[in-house]
This record gives sequence, C-alpha cells and structure tokens, in this order.
Amino acid sequence: MEIKRNVLLNPGPSTTTDTVKFAQVVPDICPREKEFGELMRGLQADLVKIVHGDPEKYTSVLFCGSGTLNIDVAINSLLPEGKKVLVINNGAYSTRAVEICEFYGLPHIDLQFPVDELPDLKVVEETLKANPDIGLVHTTHNETGTGILNPIREIGALVHRYGATFTVDTTSTYAMRPIDIEKDNIDFCMASAQKGLMSFTGLSFIVGNKAIIEASKDYPKRSYYCNLYLQYEYFKKTGEMHFTPPVQTIYATIQAMKEYWKEGEEAKWARHTRVFNAINAGLDELGFRQVIRPEWRAGLVSSAYYPDDENWNFEKVHDYCYERGFTIYPGKISTANTFRLCSLGAIDEGDIKDFFEVFKAALEEYGVQIPIRYE
Ligand SMILES: *Cc1c(COP(=O)(O)O)cnc(C)c1O
Repeated sequence: MEIKRNVLLNPGPSTTTDTVKFAQVVPDICPREKEFGELMRGLQADLVKIVHGDPEKYTSVLFCGSGTLNIDVAINSLLPEGKKVLVINNGAYSTRAVEICEFYGLPHIDLQFPVDELPDLKVVEETLKANPDIGLVHTTHNETGTGILNPIREIGALVHRYGATFTVDTTSTYAMRPIDIEKDNIDFCMASAQKGLMSFTGLSFIVGNKAIIEASKDYPKRSYYCNLYLQYEYFKKTGEMHFTPPVQTIYATIQAMKEYWKEGEEAKWARHTRVFNAINAGLDELGFRQVIRPEWRAGLVSSAYYPDDENWNFEKVHDYCYERGFTIYPGKISTANTFRLCSLGAIDEGDIKDFFEVFKAALEEYGVQIPIRYE
C-alpha cells in the first residue's frame, strides 16, 4: 500500500515514517493482557533513557491525551498545600500554564517577559527570594510559538537553591535537542508521541523524579483523571495505565522508539539542525525577517514576519503549498503577524529544498515581491 508522503512544517504532529504508520495495524488486543503490559514497561523505561535519567531516581508516567494534558497534570499534581506556582512566561505555551493555574484557582505568579527575549535571571531570583512560598516553578524549554530557547539549566539551579520543584515543558525539544534531566536541573519534563518521537497523537508522558512523585501523594488532589500520583501508583502496582491506553499509538511509538535508537541521539539532532539551517537559508534568501535573534533560537522553529506587501496572503500561500504536499503554519504571537516553519519529523534538507521551490512559486503566483519587502 502506497501512502502519500506529506512534509509537515507545522510544530507537530510531525511527518512520520511508513514503518511507524504501519505499526498501528496490529491484531486486536485487550490492553489488559500481559503481553501488552510488557510492551508498556519497555516503553516506560525508554522514555526515561532518552533524557539520560537514572532509572533508580527517575521514572515516566504515561497518559492518554495530547501534550497539554502533561502541563495540566504537572501543575495540578505537584503543588503542595499552602504553596504558590511561579510561571516564567515568555510565550504562548507558558501562558497556557498560567491559564491552567487560573482554571484550578491555584495561587500563582505570572512572571512575564517579552516573547522575543530571554527571561532575566536576576528578576527570577528576586522573585524566588521575595516569595518563599513558591513551591513549583514552571517554564517552557523551546517556546514553540516563536522558537526561543529558554536557559532551563540556569533557571533550574536557582529553583533548587530556593527549594522549589522545577517542571519544564519540553514538548518541542524532547527526543530532538539532547536533554540530560539531572544535569539540566529538571525535576519533571514532558512531551507527547507526535512531536520529537515522530509517532502519533494520543500518548503523552511526564518524566521525573520518583521521590517527588511519592511525596505528592499527600498534596491536595485537584483532578481525578489528571493526577500524577494516581497514575504512577496504578502503573507501579499493575503495569497498566489506570484507564484505557491509546493502544495503536503505543504500538506506533514502540516502533518510533526503535527508529530513534537506530538513528541515534546525536545523528538525529544533527539531522534536525540540517533541516533548520536549510529553512533559515531559504528564508534569508527570500529576504524574510525572523522574530528571534539567531543565538537565541532553539534550532527547531523558525518564526518569520509577514511581508509588508498587499499581495501577501498567508491562507493562499498555505493552500498552494498544501496542495503540493507541504504544510506551513501560522505564528502564535499576539503582537505581530508571523508564520512558522518547523524542523521536527522524519524529513531532511532535501525536503526543504523542494519546499522552497514550491514556496517561491507560490509567492510568484500571487505577485508577492521578492526579495520580501518590509516598511
Ligand atoms: C505541542 C506543544 C504542546 C502540546 O500541545 P497539544 O496541542 O496539546 O498537543 C505543549 N507544549 C509545547 C511547548 C508544545 O510545542
């Protein structure tokens, strides 16, 4: 069977290999069977290994849902009684964490920085010092809305100096940009299968410190379905997820994991970097300006400003590319009109060369001036 290959340049789900796609087609099985439980245990261990976690100290907890579920679980489950959340916020995904705090009515500080700038570590430290009741600090590794890379190792060191727990949304770096959970001072990181692992939506997971999960047993329970300790405890006891797992996505993710180890951490990151460089070279050649200065980019998302050209129409350019197998994506900044090209997925620099031929043809088709014009 031939499946049309699309090159997805949106920030996930990503382009997958056919072997991962076909891994979903398996005999029907009840996920309560021992055979399935063994697959899950292997997957659970591999998810920790990807971030170089010591299996004595770290574990992974699996959930059925998209990546936002992880942010919800981490924040609602890991805040002790009488403590406050600090969100270090320079983009759309940290803003989502703030919204989660608001929904649960959790005391929190929304420490905002401009979307195109790194958080000021002095201000972070002053905030921690002035608020000894901060129990949980959350931020985003690669702010997918812009592609800025936050200095999590430095933030984590501060968080630990002031005795708080550090949760990091690594959804758009995990299994792409190398992470070392211990050296990077992360207590909990998270991702979902449709991003760096190049599998499908439906499986999300939090990788983190076992001792803190054990301690959270006595923290206030704010959700039933989305509680970290309950899910951890159930899996530990039974080797099964508490409720029905995304069976087919798990089969695909196990295949994706095999392909991850085969390609290797370094080679995979080198490939994403090749793709990223090819995207930037293509944008530069056309004259597009980007939001994030080069030295602050996470190497996975390119975020470009719309041209000041009356013929530019994102929807039309998108549709032209989409019809030819390439998906581009709008930006996520409230203050400027941008679009994004992302470097995740089973693609390589040749795909980007092909993409820019189509993209350039779209600009010419609609009369957008090249090089791109800005006022
Ligand atoms: C993709 C992404 C998520 C999850 O989004 P869903 O739509 O829920 O899958 C969370 N955080 C970051 C940084 C992301 O890039």
